[in-house]
Amino acid sequence: MTSPTAPPAPDPTTRLLHADRHFGVEQGGVHMAVHPSVQYGYERVEDLIGVFQGTLKNRFNYARQGTPTTAALEAKLTALEEGVGTVCFATGMAAVSAVFLTLLRAGDHLVASRHLFGNTHSVLGTLQGLGIQVGLVDASSAAAVADALTPATRMVFVETIANPGTQVPDLAGIGRLCAERGLVYVVDNTITSPALFRPKTVGASLSLNSLTKTIAGHGNALGGAATDTGLFDWSGFPNIFAGYRQGDAKQWGLVQLRKKGLRDLGGSLSSDHAHRIAVGAETLALRVAQSSATALSLARFLESHPAVARVHYPMLESHPQHALARAHFASGAWLLSFELQDPQACIPVINRLQIPIKATGMGDTRTLIIPVAPTIFWEAGLARRAEMGIAEGLIRVSVGLERESDLVADFAAALA
Ligand code: PLP
Repeated sequence: MTSPTAPPAPDPTTRLLHADRHFGVEQGGVHMAVHPSVQYGYERVEDLIGVFQGTLKNRFNYARQGTPTTAALEAKLTALEEGVGTVCFATGMAAVSAVFLTLLRAGDHLVASRHLFGNTHSVLGTLQGLGIQVGLVDASSAAAVADALTPATRMVFVETIANPGTQVPDLAGIGRLCAERGLVYVVDNTITSPALFRPKTVGASLSLNSLTKTIAGHGNALGGAATDTGLFDWSGFPNIFAGYRQGDAKQWGLVQLRKKGLRDLGGSLSSDHAHRIAVGAETLALRVAQSSATALSLARFLESHPAVARVHYPMLESHPQHALARAHFASGAWLLSFELQDPQACIPVINRLQIPIKATGMGDTRTLIIPVAPTIFWEAGLARRAEMGIAEGLIRVSVGLERESDLVADFAAALA
């Protein structure tokens, strides 16, 4: 959907805070109203036909393809990512799957980072079953990505900071490679969010966000989004269906994602969740700054502790891609993981913690902690975990907004 007329303020938060009242003021409301309607009716049937045929813009027909509330959120995400448009989905995984399933076809080849969120990795298995070949690489090296390309490669997929191992790809190097080879470059920006990084700056074609995480921020709404940065030339991409090769070519990818990915696959975001996500996003920059600062302090504390064998956090000098992280991100975000000297101590140490909640999920206001191998990567099995660099004793922490000293004291007590 097109962007709301936001005040011409340079700062994204300033623009975000005032976007709704400039989008469609209803009784002076400062939030876009929550539109529960599934159907959208018109006085003249010609208008309904116009909405279906796309000649009447920014109007609605059936909520599976969007509502005024989801459209307002899409416009805000487009502004945050400095893109040309966004399609929102019911979850981050709905966005990830829609991108793969609507933009790739049997016989295509996809190059993906070996270090990815487990469920995304699982989708890659589904793609292989559908005849899409997948090459997994160490994406911290653009040369490794280049070596994996074949004549059938259409897309490269990476996460800015990999969940849960925190590996960082050579984002700019891969961007240059994709531009040279005309490949769709998809960057999952979930862990960094647009508060710390805009994939457009490294030449990404699409930026994906699980809105469930730090953008919504309070663990009370599921959502996902794909934002087109406007950099990819869809007119040269063979997988755009003939019916969508009309008008501005910058919109072709998004049109296909909305029609095939949202309308047909049906993973649509509800207006209620879009509203909660939009309210959460208003404090995104503040929350990310605070939780990132706490995460760095906690990472430093853990690294100095004799019971801890390894800490994975991109802003630690010991992190293998520390230089890449420093070059790309404003700070290291709220995700860290660590391994104990004695992997057997993993469960009792977690149980001794009083503040972090033993739960999956990330990007919440509350700190969440989980042992990775027996939970979110259990289905992968031992061999796959080793291949993906997941140590059996790895513990993932999503740092929240608790006072840093309280959190560090709690970890100190649990490790003592
Ligand atoms: N991408 C990344 C990097 C994630 O960490 C996650 C979830 O943890 C997802 C996508 C999927 O998001 P959702 O839980 O909203 O489906």
